Amino acid sequence: MSHARALGGHHQEVTLVAVTKTHGPDAVRAAWRAGVRDVGENKVQEAEAKMGQVPPDVLVRWHLIGHLQRNKAKAAVRFALIHSIDSERLALAVNEAAIAVHHVQEVLVQVNVSGEATKGGIAPADVAALAGRLLECGGLRVVGVMTMAPFDSPETVLRHVFRGARATREQFRAAGHPATELSMGMSDDFEVAVQEGATLVRLGTVLFGHRASP
Ligand SMILES: *Cc1c(COP(=O)(O)O)cnc(C)c1O
Repeated sequence: MSHARALGGHHQEVTLVAVTKTHGPDAVRAAWRAGVRDVGENKVQEAEAKMGQVPPDVLVRWHLIGHLQRNKAKAAVRFALIHSIDSERLALAVNEAAIAVHHVQEVLVQVNVSGEATKGGIAPADVAALAGRLLECGGLRVVGVMTMAPFDSPETVLRHVFRGARATREQFRAAGHPATELSMGMSDDFEVAVQEGATLVRLGTVLFGHRASP
């Protein structure tokens, strides 16, 4: 990882988010023992169950990295960071839920740079307008963007996607958001992501082995 960072020349800090989805609370404990302090889950319910099973001395920041339904916005405001704000309606629902409990929720806006229909997220062309509207959301702190590259892409495609995401982060900053984070890079592509400036990499398989089912 440090090699990739040096190659990329972005001089960023990189935080490892250990993706424990489908694994039990033991995976969280093992990651914590190894010095990891950030854990990612892609479903609210699975995460909530695991939060209750992890011993209290295992203090980690819980990240929500998977698609969030609007009706679960209330439950999502307990996460340290929500990576997957993929629509304006969802942003508004989380904003409302946060305000209701006098909380300012840190979030990332998920951007869909590749344009794949199977991936959620805001198209880069729509980012500037959204960034302006989210400034009105007192319950949200937009600290950056998240993206996913298409599976099995050649390096040129990965770089295109990751650079595109980085450019959208600059649009959030230009609009006045404290957008410093760039969540990108999974087991198969994190080295390229770090070279392109990732500050949060979300790794499951390389840490815990293959999942039994998605
Ligand atoms: C599962 C998942 C990951 C981790 O994927 P690996 O390929 O196992 O590292 C990262 N990000 C998201 C959004 C995921 O759902």
